[in-house]
Amino acid sequence: MRILKGAEISAEIKKQVQEILASVSGHAPMAAIVRVGEKPDDISYEKGAQKKLAAFGLTSQSYVFPETIPDEEFRREFAKINEDKAVDGILLLRPLPKQIDEKAVERMIRPEKDLDGISPINSAKVFAGEADGFAPCTAEAVIEVLKGAGIAIEGRRAVIVGRSMVVGRPLSMLLLKENATVTICHTRTRDLKAVCKEGDILIAAAGKAGMLTAEYVAEGAVVIDVGINVDADGHLCGDVKWDGLEDVASAATPVPGGVGGVTTAVLAKHLALAALRKQEKGSTAGA
Ligand code: NDP
Repeated sequence: MRILKGAEISAEIKKQVQEILASVSGHAPMAAIVRVGEKPDDISYEKGAQKKLAAFGLTSQSYVFPETIPDEEFRREFAKINEDKAVDGILLLRPLPKQIDEKAVERMIRPEKDLDGISPINSAKVFAGEADGFAPCTAEAVIEVLKGAGIAIEGRRAVIVGRSMVVGRPLSMLLLKENATVTICHTRTRDLKAVCKEGDILIAAAGKAGMLTAEYVAEGAVVIDVGINVDADGHLCGDVKWDGLEDVASAATPVPGGVGGVTTAVLAKHLALAALRKQEKGSTAGA
């Protein structure tokens, strides 16, 4: 079984970012990372993103607001970041606290700065198969892993476990664009094991530690594990159990060391693209 390491895919994406940056003049593109509250998961993702952006020659600035910030005040502050010309892209750490109308913020974010594809305009572009928007980074990271590892997608059965707006749904559209035949599973799916076994490519994005055992995997399938969980011993783990996996799967991504690092590499690519598109738009404005 081939182990698909995220670091190798990230290194390829870094080269693409450097090529894009070669065409961006004047400044290192800057991402605003917007965090509300002090959730350890958010802080850890923020640190990972800051580190990856810096390693790729990009910059970031964190905007941190108190957990209790009222809805109106947050949206006022967010609008300032959204309109700031020095900000090339925005990463909003979610979910936001309950008092904030998250849907309203999704509608507010400028689509051209929307690095993680949360704006309804970017969702529509993903749905329509248009390439000039931004897909959610994790969903796109799965495609990068498959393509980067030279795994054929066209004509193959892809089974996704999970239907969230962050992973499962956009990923289904990205796979469809690559001409896969896609099945999406969720908590109401009947006989999940049998459905998963139909997948040439099986993508686990349920957020349930070790829920997919080798019994869910077809002979020769490629297994992509998006899950990030903490097991009973406090260790980071995915949704896929590795016991016996090497006897059935042809390839699999580990957790940690798989899709997670590719997600921040895609974030960096989106930021470089946002800066390039802004520059191109600026040079044609008024023409
Ligand atoms: P959500 O909780 O929003 O969605 C989980 C989905 O999985 C739901 O659609 C749910 O079904 C489905 N599901 C849960 N349990 C089962 C089950 N037993 N059988 C079948 N389907 C099930 O999670 P996210 O999409 O936000 O995240 C999924 C995982 O990916 C998490 O572990 C998260 O930490 C990780 N993640 C990783 C990232 C990365 O960079 N690698 C980035 C983002 C997330 P239903 O809709 O019916 O409830």
